[in-house]
Amino acid sequence: VTGLVDHHCHSVTSAELDRAAFERYLSEARDTATGTSHFDSSLGFGVRRWCGPVLDLAPHVDADLYVARRRELGADEVNRRFLRAAGVTDLLVDWGHGPACPVDGPGLSDASGARVHDVLRLETLAEELASGCPPEEFPATFRSVLERRAHGSAALKSIVAYRHGLDFRPERPGDAEVVQATRHWAERAKAGRSARLSDPIILRFLLWTAADLGHRLQMHTGLGDADLRLDKSDPSLLRDFLEAIQPTGTTVLLLHCWPFHRHAAFLAAVYPHVYLDLGLTLNHVGPRASAVLAETLELAPVGKVLYASDAFGLAEVHYRGALRFRHAVSGLFGEWTEAGEISPQDADRIVDLVGAGNAQRVYGLPAPPA
Ligand SMILES: [Zn+2]
Repeated sequence: VTGLVDHHCHSVTSAELDRAAFERYLSEARDTATGTSHFDSSLGFGVRRWCGPVLDLAPHVDADLYVARRRELGADEVNRRFLRAAGVTDLLVDWGHGPACPVDGPGLSDASGARVHDVLRLETLAEELASGCPPEEFPATFRSVLERRAHGSAALKSIVAYRHGLDFRPERPGDAEVVQATRHWAERAKAGRSARLSDPIILRFLLWTAADLGHRLQMHTGLGDADLRLDKSDPSLLRDFLEAIQPTGTTVLLLHCWPFHRHAAFLAAVYPHVYLDLGLTLNHVGPRASAVLAETLELAPVGKVLYASDAFGLAEVHYRGALRFRHAVSGLFGEWTEAGEISPQDADRIVDLVGAGNAQRVYGLPAPPA
């Protein structure tokens, strides 16, 4: 693939990181086990092996030397080097969840040379709006603000997997139910309990409002951080909801998916409006990336798989994700070609589709300037 489209990622940090702060970004864990290091992981090994040379260091460089070199160059230069080396033409950035001292849109575009498109998080928007309006007005307010904001966004994003689980009821809730649930939510927040939105009726209302707009809807599924209940993030739990919203014309993009990538592949195979990526999975499974991609493509149509780094905080993860993806894709389709399963022409076409073409088509992105 010449230039990748990264259809789901987050911003990078402009903070100067010491070793402990750097390591925190290497893992989805909240804490590190005593006596261990997050550098001793597939992603950590990958950073030392592949990212070291981008900072003029030897492959497999020692972790302390790596972090010291990073500080010597400074975060701006480090971000610029990795984001350029990733070879991405378009970044679709979820601004609803970001690192400390995030680089803004123009900064990201400047550092990467890529076009930056915004992804809007439904739950974050709902929390902003609910704090400033009476519960009776919340459904209408959310509908009108989302409609307006959706116009300027490449996609909407849902983290209902985190806030409740994907085992929510599929039907559209009525406004009266939503108002009552919003009232309870406001009371909880006023009583000093969490203002975090986790009510399944309101969460379903957000999803249905997004679906009614017929927009693209990214949904977190599978692998995530320690805030997640993995057993409730299986995308096959979405089956009835996917059926129910199909008439709206919405496109659903299942993010990350592991270890349910085969379940997601099935959904993408049977529903025309369902797509998937492997997101941060490929970085975290490291040398097994080709195997996970191969399992996904057992059933997922090649026109339904997209590239995403899901990078968060470290520009290294943008770079390493792109490199890992390119390697896994070219290796897999190289094998299929060698085995006589597909022609070399088909292999080239498919590599371009999963790296960029599918995302350009789904998001209506113009082809990048040559
Ligand atoms: Zn993400």
